Amino acid sequence: MNRENIRLVALDMDGTITQHRTALEPQNRAALDALAEKYRLVIVGAGACARIHGQLGGYPLDVIGNYGMETGEYDREKGGLTIVESRSVTVEPQEAVRERVTRLRRQFGMETFAGDTVEFHASGMITFPLLGTKADIRDKLAFDPDRSRRRPLYPVVKEAFSQYTVFIGGSSSFDIVPKPFNKLYALERYCARHGFARGEVVFFGDDYREGGNDEQVYHSDFAFVTVDDYRDFPERAAVLL
Ligand SMILES: [Mg+2]
Repeated sequence: MNRENIRLVALDMDGTITQHRTALEPQNRAALDALAEKYRLVIVGAGACARIHGQLGGYPLDVIGNYGMETGEYDREKGGLTIVESRSVTVEPQEAVRERVTRLRRQFGMETFAGDTVEFHASGMITFPLLGTKADIRDKLAFDPDRSRRRPLYPVVKEAFSQYTVFIGGSSSFDIVPKPFNKLYALERYCARHGFARGEVVFFGDDYREGGNDEQVYHSDFAFVTVDDYRDFPERAAVLL
């Protein structure tokens, strides 16, 4: 990465600048403030724009949500996020998805679950929650903290949902996203729309290993700064200051 050329800093949120599903802490907010003085900032996230914007306490930056299916631009005059694009893709009937999930559960020996077996989102994204949609948060967090239970299942889910991109998501689920949406595709489109060349962009992310939702960006030719603990973000950001 040639620091002199950088104009855009793209960031994952959960695990990179915040603890998962947790508000932005003061040290990391200060690091974002320092970056914002020199660069344009954009979040490239897996969740919906409104959730990301809320979790960051309304921090003034653009947000790409749902792996690029949704885009929000920060309005400096009104002081809020305006959704400028919201996509919805239907790949197949829900029944076909349910059948495949049922077959996978049988294969994995995970036929007991709380609530529903699968969650369909308005965007066309699908969540396959191994413990079910209504599982207790404590059970979810305890299920697979190091991903050792989902990693061996990942190739099987990926194969079963080959019309989608599959991610190891959240604490105990798989995120199943219609192609071509992923963070790399999202970032490329944002750059094209706003006139940034590849060499002018750097991405910060924590989930760059196999099945992680930053993996496609990590394996691309965008400059990538790895953040293995969100508390290290100020130190990692300092390379640009
Ligand atoms: Mg992350």
